[in-house]
Amino acid sequence: MKQLQVKTSSSEYPIYIGEDCLSVLAPFLQQATQTIVVTDQTVYDLHYQKLSHVLPENTITYIITPGESSKSFDCYHQIQTFLIESQVDRQACLLAFGGGVVGDLAGFVAATYMRGIDFIQIPTTLLAHDSAIGGKVAINHELGKNLIGAFYPPKAVVYDLRFLRTLSEKEWRCGLAEMVKHGFIANPSLLRQLLQIQSLDALLDETFAQLLIQSLMVKMEIVQMDEFEQGCRAYLNFGHTFGHAIELDEKELSHGEAVAIGILFSLYLSEHIFGIDLAIGQYLTYLKRLHFPLPFNVDHAKRYLGYMMHDKKNQRKQVRFVLLNQLAKPELVSFSIAGLETLLKQFLS
Ligand code: NAD
Ligand code: ZN
Repeated sequence: MKQLQVKTSSSEYPIYIGEDCLSVLAPFLQQATQTIVVTDQTVYDLHYQKLSHVLPENTITYIITPGESSKSFDCYHQIQTFLIESQVDRQACLLAFGGGVVGDLAGFVAATYMRGIDFIQIPTTLLAHDSAIGGKVAINHELGKNLIGAFYPPKAVVYDLRFLRTLSEKEWRCGLAEMVKHGFIANPSLLRQLLQIQSLDALLDETFAQLLIQSLMVKMEIVQMDEFEQGCRAYLNFGHTFGHAIELDEKELSHGEAVAIGILFSLYLSEHIFGIDLAIGQYLTYLKRLHFPLPFNVDHAKRYLGYMMHDKKNQRKQVRFVLLNQLAKPELVSFSIAGLETLLKQFLS
């Protein structure tokens, strides 16, 4: 097991990562009056038993429907009601046991229940190596993703890699997209190794675990430099401006699959704006080799633009993108709607 320590100006918490590391939860749970587990049905069925060994007797569990649609006001309200009816007090500890959806939703519940109770992230997806670190928690509004949220760091992140063995290929692709993103914005060596992956079969070995730790450290270091997204943390949105638009338009795409396409467009814009070569062809070959879906459609350009105009990063009616002026050198670039439309249509055709 490896232990890392996140240290920001306002918080400090450990990340435990490795096979079979759930016993580190015990001291945290002993201090709490009660333990609440929020998880989704799939994670509950596959992995709850492993977690149950370390849970105190008076643990209560709330199970949500898997998927992005649970990051809703409705679901948020139902969990709050469950906590109130169960008379959960302020010294309780909430465990967010699942992927990014559970982490974001349960984290936002923890941030706001009685003005905040402790919570621990127990990520179970590859993508959640990213979402569990950094303290951003949120639910969605029908006008946009993650629009209602908070910065609320967990007390700890406990990442037991045994959970990853049951992920579908779609979920592997999804997590790889965020790892590749970390490679592009901060770690070319990580990027090179990721782009060499030939297949998703039996990917979880010691070499891959090391790549995962490197990727996690990119996220951790950026959060440490800029916890509240006033500067370089915005670079983590690389690939997300167009990614979110695609995600809203193509409901069957997962977050990471959409981000993978968003990265492609960001590379295209970067090459166009900075006149550099970022080897888009190599990235596209990798996406095709690992069977990433690429369903973007030139006829939807206006719709994509509409979604991008609601992006949180935008300023003064311009759409802001994270681009690369070279590998591992991100920068924010603003586009007028008209200018972006032209480039988007060229990219899509
Ligand atoms: P998810 O939580 O929906 O998990 C994806 C699917 O995998 C679900 O169906 C889930 O039931 C299943 N699953 C989870 N663990 C499993 C396991 N071990 N084995 C088999 N199946 C398993 O989604 P995700 O991809 O983990 O996360 C996406 C979410 O994360 C999005 O809502 C996104 O906005 C959010 N996110 C947040 C941040 C942040 O900083 N807070 C960063 C990136 C992404
Ligand atoms: Zn993301």
